[in-house]
Amino acid sequence: MLENSEEEPMNHLNNSVISKSTSPLTITSKKTNCFLIEINDGFVLIDTGYTSERLVIEEALTNAGCTSANLNLILLTHGDFDHTGNCAYFRDKYGAEVAMHKEDSGMVEYGDFFYSRSNVNIIVKILLKTALFLLRMNLKKQDRFKPDIYVEEGDDLSIYGFDAKVIHFPGHSKGSIGFLTDNGNLFCGDLLENTKEPAKFSLIDNHEEYNESIEKLKQYQIITIYPGHGKPFTLEVLLEKL
Ligand SMILES: [Zn+2]
Repeated sequence: MLENSEEEPMNHLNNSVISKSTSPLTITSKKTNCFLIEINDGFVLIDTGYTSERLVIEEALTNAGCTSANLNLILLTHGDFDHTGNCAYFRDKYGAEVAMHKEDSGMVEYGDFFYSRSNVNIIVKILLKTALFLLRMNLKKQDRFKPDIYVEEGDDLSIYGFDAKVIHFPGHSKGSIGFLTDNGNLFCGDLLENTKEPAKFSLIDNHEEYNESIEKLKQYQIITIYPGHGKPFTLEVLLEKL
């Protein structure tokens, strides 16, 4: 896979030609984004949406030409049910491995929204757990899974044909991560959102870690940010608003 990406000389920041991995297909369902990225020998899927939106997302993947023969990897930005709801199903259907950060693994193994969140008062936790259960906003037994691969800060995903690196952004959850492509596209999950305007995400578990994650953004060559909710925006625009 690495050989293929080397044969494609267009994956550079200063090249005006848009290579395959600079134009992700955004699949938005119930205001949550999944991203399908075409790589040289197939596809990578980032996040998998709500379980209830399975048919819509599945249809979009099929229309894009995604099959069991060409989905190389499913990447998860974090463990929340609106991003991981179809992961077990897509893993089985497409035979693709699933990668995420180990800190959020318990969220998808046990369907526990609070597994990698520490700063929640016990009473609030009980109330929220009940509410999430009643609203069916949890990962049900058949949709739970154990990831195949654990990734962490600095990991290079080019071994899967995806020219991107993993950045750890704890704060929303302990295992929240982003994927920064060599072209400057950052898939940041719920670090940021853009439902009204580019902004910090509304649900923050650990403010200290979260603020460090926001500061961290400035270290990287980021051009476009693709959030878990809302439309893409530039880092430049975000920094003006923060
Ligand atoms: Zn989330």
